[in-house]
Amino acid sequence: MTINCVLFDLDNTLVGIPDTWNYFDTLIQDVLNLDYKLSIPSIVERNSLWRSGKGFISILKRWDVSDPNDFWIKFDERDRKKRRKLIKENKLILYDDVIPTLKKLNNMGIKIGIVSNTPDFIIEFELDAFKLAPFFDKVLGLGDDQSICKPEPDGINMILEEMKCNPAKTIFIGDSEVDLIAAQRAKVFPIYIDRNKEKRKKFVIDPKSYIKITSLLQIFEIIKRPLEDGKFLAESIL
Ligand SMILES: [Mg+2]
Repeated sequence: MTINCVLFDLDNTLVGIPDTWNYFDTLIQDVLNLDYKLSIPSIVERNSLWRSGKGFISILKRWDVSDPNDFWIKFDERDRKKRRKLIKENKLILYDDVIPTLKKLNNMGIKIGIVSNTPDFIIEFELDAFKLAPFFDKVLGLGDDQSICKPEPDGINMILEEMKCNPAKTIFIGDSEVDLIAAQRAKVFPIYIDRNKEKRKKFVIDPKSYIKITSLLQIFEIIKRPLEDGKFLAESIL
């Protein structure tokens, strides 16, 4: 039994957004300030939104946003405009290891997909800009429905079903803790890509429960190994 399905996060896993935290934090502030004329909550409050999953409604209500779904519509619209500008200015980065990795996976007959918290309409032009779409069997953007965004497992569960993939034979690669948690919850094996070799990342999940890589090409050491279950896969690598 070997891995036959590889799922990826998109932002900062395949395509790099410069100064990411600031990029998304500014979007939150712009929606609150410019669209709603509301005051800006503390950094701790703003950060809590990114890992909230289904809890986003109570957080936004606390910030006096009366319609939480409308908040994300406005957020996505600002995100779309801002990303189009980044692409035009060649500021979005396609990492060097992406095309070689995707080609090799295609040649090996391994199914590949994307599960991203970004909405489909933004993912589409991002993939178009780098001609990535043809490599993928399925691309799933979750941004239209915040309640199923990672760290919730819903998106991964949905794509596994659509791609007819077995979670026990699937890995999920992402750059943030919400990716790792979503993968764990969906019972696929979590892989953390640490492109900046950051030591400071303080994750709450057990470091033994995922594998850390610094280049996508390292996944070939992982997927070639025979495995009986996720545990054996983890033990064989660490
Ligand atoms: Mg990401």
